[in-house]
Amino acid sequence: METLYHSTRSNTETYTSKRAILTGIAPDGGLFVSDQISRTSLDLTVVCGNDYHANARLVLGTLLPDYTPDEIASCVEGAYGSQWDTHAITPLTPLGNDWLLELYHGPTCAFKDVALQMLPRLMSAARHTAGGGRNVMILTATSGDTGKAALDGFADVEGTGVTVFYPDGKVSDVQRLQMVTQRGGNVAVCGIRGNFDDAQTGVKKIFSDPEVAARLLANNTVLSSANSINVGRLVPQVTYYFDAYAQLVRAGAVAQGDPIDFCVPTGNFGDVLAGFYAKQIGLPVGKLIVASNANNVLTDFITTGTYDRRRPFHKTISPSMDILVSSNLERLLYYLSGGDCELVAAYMRDLSQTGAYTVSSDMMEKLRQTFDCGFADDDATRRTIHTTWDELGVLIDTHTAVGKAVVDARASEGRPRVCLSTASPYKFSSDVLAALGANTQGMDGFACMDELARRTGTVAPAQLSGLRDAAELHTDVCDQDKMCAFVESACARVFS
Ligand SMILES: *Cc1c(COP(=O)(O)O)cnc(C)c1O
Repeated sequence: METLYHSTRSNTETYTSKRAILTGIAPDGGLFVSDQISRTSLDLTVVCGNDYHANARLVLGTLLPDYTPDEIASCVEGAYGSQWDTHAITPLTPLGNDWLLELYHGPTCAFKDVALQMLPRLMSAARHTAGGGRNVMILTATSGDTGKAALDGFADVEGTGVTVFYPDGKVSDVQRLQMVTQRGGNVAVCGIRGNFDDAQTGVKKIFSDPEVAARLLANNTVLSSANSINVGRLVPQVTYYFDAYAQLVRAGAVAQGDPIDFCVPTGNFGDVLAGFYAKQIGLPVGKLIVASNANNVLTDFITTGTYDRRRPFHKTISPSMDILVSSNLERLLYYLSGGDCELVAAYMRDLSQTGAYTVSSDMMEKLRQTFDCGFADDDATRRTIHTTWDELGVLIDTHTAVGKAVVDARASEGRPRVCLSTASPYKFSSDVLAALGANTQGMDGFACMDELARRTGTVAPAQLSGLRDAAELHTDVCDQDKMCAFVESACARVFS
């Protein structure tokens, strides 16, 4: 058996990628990383001749080497099939002088589908060979989009269940309806009184409680994560960085081998970290631009080297980026430190004990070679939606607009720039419509969808407009200290 992955906080125990995917988070609280990643390089000529599906097989086969080629092929075929509205999966379109990478053509209209249509298939394949056939309960805290994408990906997948916690009152109407209308005999949904970080902290506590694990194991059940800390979430996202590059080369917009930049609307740091992985395995990347909203803890970190979560939490019009602790950053720290687990563990201890840590100047230097940053508040985001529609005829959502605003504020460095578009504008119709200048007072999410379509001559995705007629199936809301009981009762119901 190959042993490839280990925790960011210790490298004594190693895991195959299958075991890492089933386990989710390492027992010591660290995230699974692989040292292989800096020793592998994909062949760009092959990448540029591939379609999305072939690139997905190439990337997954490289980063998850204990899956057989047949397993990978069948996962790719299932994950990127007719539930997408384009065979290209993530088409690249012009955005003025830049490019828009449309990541929202999947079943829930957000970029998380790219990974969450894949993860259940990877888990299901791993369950039989590396998981002892145990039931897997997926536990997820969501700031809005992950929840629905996880529910849709896992619903009725054999041997799995999914429990989603979202911050009550802090996701959009449509996001909430997408989750509470989810069908499937193995799904559970619950609102939390608090913000996303409260929900995420609650989930982490459940994962690290050995007594919970023992009780569940007695019923042949293990917990796992669908949050972007799972390597099975991260790896599928690497594909679209390569595929975007291939599309640019084929469009004649870049010569094969020349670098391009990516601007990534960032929350938990999973999406942009996948870009870093792509660079590590041979993609010519100039800069990865980390775009934040008013919760600009990453802007400060990349500028100063100090990560400090002790600041007010802002509820913004880009709620999927309203995050003060970007979990996946821990993986980047591991690589920047040259694989120093003790140092990473010390930073994470500082973060949990004092709320802050400061990285070495050596690490900062490495960070700045690849990463750049910027942020946009809600006003700048609205202005950007407006001008992008008026001047370019491109309708973008509030998250994508944060990235576009950050790109617009920078001088071009001559390299082609790709803005990752992380959600359909119709997922955030009310804020997008208001940004275009409409008075949305008294209009619900669906009235906003209709008006947005009327004004722009674009069409709302059926999976969103159809929600108005769907029944609300999940009504639970609880405090953080009741989350564990909710999970255990969901397991009992689903796996009885
Ligand atoms: C999750 C999400 C993000 C942030 O991605 P991370 O991987 O958490 O950094 C940005 N935009 C949208 C629409 C999202 O759903």
